Amino acid sequence: MIEKRDFYINGKWVAPATPNDLNVIDPSTEEVCAVISLGDQADTDAAVAAAKAAFADWGFSKKEDRLALIEKLLQVYQKRSDDLAEAMSMEMGAPIDLARTAQVGSGTWHIQNFITAFKDFEFDKMLGAHAPNDRLLYEPIGVCALITPWNWPMNQVSLKVVAAMAAGCTMVLKPSEIAPLSSIVWSEIVDEVGFPDGVYNMVNGDGMGVGTQLSTHPDVDMVSFTGSTRAGIAISKAAADTLKRVSLELGGKGANIIFDDADDKAVKRGVMHMMQNTGQSCNAPSRMLVQRSVYDQAIETAREAAEKVQVGPANQEGRHIGPVVSEAQWNKIQDLIQTGIDEGARLIAGGTGRPEGLNKGYFVKPTIFADVSNDMTIAREEIFGPVMAMIPFDTEEEAVEIANDTVYGLTNYVQTQDGQRANRVARHLRSGMVEMNGTSRAAGSPFGGYKQSGNGREGGILGIEDFLEVKAVSGWSND
Ligand code: NAD
Repeated sequence: MIEKRDFYINGKWVAPATPNDLNVIDPSTEEVCAVISLGDQADTDAAVAAAKAAFADWGFSKKEDRLALIEKLLQVYQKRSDDLAEAMSMEMGAPIDLARTAQVGSGTWHIQNFITAFKDFEFDKMLGAHAPNDRLLYEPIGVCALITPWNWPMNQVSLKVVAAMAAGCTMVLKPSEIAPLSSIVWSEIVDEVGFPDGVYNMVNGDGMGVGTQLSTHPDVDMVSFTGSTRAGIAISKAAADTLKRVSLELGGKGANIIFDDADDKAVKRGVMHMMQNTGQSCNAPSRMLVQRSVYDQAIETAREAAEKVQVGPANQEGRHIGPVVSEAQWNKIQDLIQTGIDEGARLIAGGTGRPEGLNKGYFVKPTIFADVSNDMTIAREEIFGPVMAMIPFDTEEEAVEIANDTVYGLTNYVQTQDGQRANRVARHLRSGMVEMNGTSRAAGSPFGGYKQSGNGREGGILGIEDFLEVKAVSGWSND
């Protein structure tokens, strides 16, 4: 049994002020795999005080010094990648091969992209040629609370921590209490790199406790949050009294628009993307909108693709999908599948209950519904499981209307071989990201949403800018 009760505060591992044990459950076995402690106000205060004290120097440190430390962070991260993969696989159920590649790899990718963006980043800019004595100074906002979810642990932790470090901020990370083990390894990595004491701190805790304490703390200047829209609203309200900056990366209900001239692989690609990470991605293409002339064929292709998806335990090697993260999540997904059936959607693959042969563990059948209308619950709510809804449409205008008819606006997808149509549709979609014809966004492209998917932008240059203030100075001496 792993016992990891300590927090990382002011460059040291310290015991919780008041022990408050929480079991971490392995979702493949439903058994306790580790014990952590939840922090309380005294732990939060100690971490924030350390970050505040460290800001006095770190906030004015040289860019080259911060860059050198972040470059070392990348090396140590790569050295510890097996430990990170094992931790994530155990805590949130990512199959070990996915954990080693996509889960750990996302962190490597973001750190590398931040290094590239940071090297060219100008912290002092001229206002313009018309005003030679005006300067814009980009300065770190201060002490940041970084609150992350369980679904892509190192993806989100690296997006926040490394951007904040590059900006010159100091920070307190509160990882998800459901998946805290990888962030403990991450904190060991930061410790080994040797950042000045107090620049980076980590306190485990839940939303009601440490999460709320950080959001309301008078000495926290900014909260950067990734998680549910529900918690994003709660944090925004909690942070309002101290008028902190709140940067939010929230849920999604992405549309994947398949036109009749889409490439042959488009439907299968959409299903596989939906199932990746057992459907637990905020940018999952969970509504497949299909032009009516190719709709019946698309249903057959989607059914075949879903039936080929294997489900199994996270510690097994292979390309299967793992369990969903928790019993609560399993129950929620079962209810939503049942609601889909009750509201009249046509189940073409999967359904309620565990897949055959799996009697323990939070395993869900890869599930596809056809004949979904966009007002059904399964088209409106973020399911966060391997469940996809297929919706027919006739015209381009109708497809855009359905895609935009959601409170979310994170990622939408377009599949057509008509480049002009693809670009036109991309412009009309109300989302922070649009990915077309299976082309992933490039290094440094910002991740973030419109509407109730949030307001932050993470990764690359814009990700660093999220953690900066702009100071306008006139009368600047050029001597
Ligand atoms: P969650 O909102 O329940 O928890 C996320 C984090 O917030 C956890 O650390 C939790 O302890 C904390 N938290 C919860 N309530 C809080 C409160 N009132 N005050 C302060 N902190 C609080 O989400 P989750 O179940 O861990 O993650 C799944 C959600 O995350 C999904 O909705 C998903 O779409 C979203 N997500 C969004 C993105 C994105 O970038 N847009 C990326 C990944 C996940």
